[in-house]
Amino acid sequence: MNREIFKHYDMITGNNYIGNKLSSKGTKTYKTFNPQLNIENEHVFTEATDQEINEAVTLASNAFKILQTISGKQKADFLNAIADEILDLDETLIQMYSSETGLPEGRAKGERGRTIFQLRSFADLVKEGSWVEAAIDTAIPDRKPISKPDLRKMFVPLGPVVVFGASNFPLAYSTAGGDTASALGAGCPVIVKSHPMHAGTGELVASAIIKAAGKTGMPNGVFSNLNSSGIDVGVQLVQHPEVKAVGFTGSIRGGRSLYDLASQRKEPIPVFAEMGSINPVVILPEALKKRGKSLAKTYAGSITLGTGQFCTNPGLLLGIKGKGLSNFIQNLSVEILKKEPSCMLHPNIIGAYESNKQKTISQRGLRIVADYNPDVKSNYARQTVTTVEGSTFLENITLHQEVFGPFSLVVQCENEEQLETIISKLEGQLTGTVIAENNEAMQYISIVEALQNRVGRIIYNGVSTGVEVCTSMQHGGPYPASTDSRFTAVGIHSIKRWVRPFSYQNWPDSLLPDELKNENPLSISRMINGMQTTNKIK
Ligand code: NAP
Repeated sequence: MNREIFKHYDMITGNNYIGNKLSSKGTKTYKTFNPQLNIENEHVFTEATDQEINEAVTLASNAFKILQTISGKQKADFLNAIADEILDLDETLIQMYSSETGLPEGRAKGERGRTIFQLRSFADLVKEGSWVEAAIDTAIPDRKPISKPDLRKMFVPLGPVVVFGASNFPLAYSTAGGDTASALGAGCPVIVKSHPMHAGTGELVASAIIKAAGKTGMPNGVFSNLNSSGIDVGVQLVQHPEVKAVGFTGSIRGGRSLYDLASQRKEPIPVFAEMGSINPVVILPEALKKRGKSLAKTYAGSITLGTGQFCTNPGLLLGIKGKGLSNFIQNLSVEILKKEPSCMLHPNIIGAYESNKQKTISQRGLRIVADYNPDVKSNYARQTVTTVEGSTFLENITLHQEVFGPFSLVVQCENEEQLETIISKLEGQLTGTVIAENNEAMQYISIVEALQNRVGRIIYNGVSTGVEVCTSMQHGGPYPASTDSRFTAVGIHSIKRWVRPFSYQNWPDSLLPDELKNENPLSISRMINGMQTTNKIK
């Protein structure tokens, strides 16, 4: 990296942010890795010590008391300032992102845009204020046989939140990603357990958050960023009594162990873990017949997009045996081999890809239909497509597991009944896709319904890769896609993970929060005696 060009380059210290102070008391250090160049990056990061973990959580706990008194407008200013500071990191951030992930500049900029959009969306939401879902039932003192009290309810924040980001989204699902933005918007201080594979990107973004906090008068401890390469720091954070919730994006193994830890605490806390998925795609017979060739091309693109490093990667394609499916498999094998292999995020990720692929391929009855053979550069992944009979798939749950990378398995089902059985035996998934011709989905409605029961989002005639950030997006599905399918990790409704409903009974108007006062000083939309309105209470 050219130090002269990038004005923020020297901001990388390798230290932890304990609130607004840089700190490096530990002795355990590590470096990030440039998978394109196949070398370690130069900066050295120091893992947080037990003392630093405690300090960060104590600061967060104190900051929480102050944050509870801060208005939606002030929180919005903070979130918008974070977005501004991230933009100000400019090329330094983009170059750091690429050097730590091997992902191209275009992807870095796209992900930065998404991160900025998320921050500003939460800023708009909390500034407007109606998201607290205020509900008021006014008193009826002379109700018989007993009087009715005045009750007023709204969402209040849970307390300090720990966020674990995923390796494959260093910006949008990491330090200032959706979990952090939504938790800060809700009024919860955030302690990020920085992802070791993009610690430099993490430190830059953390510096932006700390600057924004200073500029907008946020209490010290509203945000901390802790380095670690290994599970110890994360485990301690989840077990800390002052931590009240956890946001996680990553593997099923990681998410599940944090979930178990959190539920074994003296005071169990919620863990909102978004985890792996194989995102089944059902291609119905007419569609296979009419557009098998173009579907093969589309799916070759989707399977290899971002070197298959998306949680929504289509890892499972399901069809009913016949000429249409055979032709599709043949075309898919041709199309996928036309794709140039690309770089994975890290030697560990490619190592896991290769070993998970080998494990799957070695299962009885599995046939490889395309396997990129030519030599590839270090850390580049060879794409692979395999196929198996429906009955074999049903018997062997190893085949139901995610192979994170450019890999997909086509299951050839005997008939409609077997297809439905297979779908209903799948683990919970983030997405499911139905590829159908006109009216064909209606003919296979029981299959569509079976799929709906296993997923959080169902797609018609499209691909699962690509997650739009908007209010109606559901990103999260039945376990193990996520630990709580009632919530989404993407879109403004994700703020609901960090709050609890709270009621005031017969509370004096002057002591109520503005959201619940008679005058409605914030002019928010509220449910008053069963009617949604912005009216005051006379
Ligand atoms: P990962 O290995 O689970 O790591 C995620 C973070 O959790 C890291 O900071 C890691 O720390 C920590 N961690 C993992 N296991 C832990 C444990 N037992 N105790 C404490 N901390 C633990 O996941 P990844 O490699 O970053 O991401 C790839 C996976 O994420 C894929 O399976 C993919 O499908 C999934 N993913 C899901 C979504 C979604 O929205 N559902 C989005 C993107 C990715 P250390 O690295 O320091 O150990």
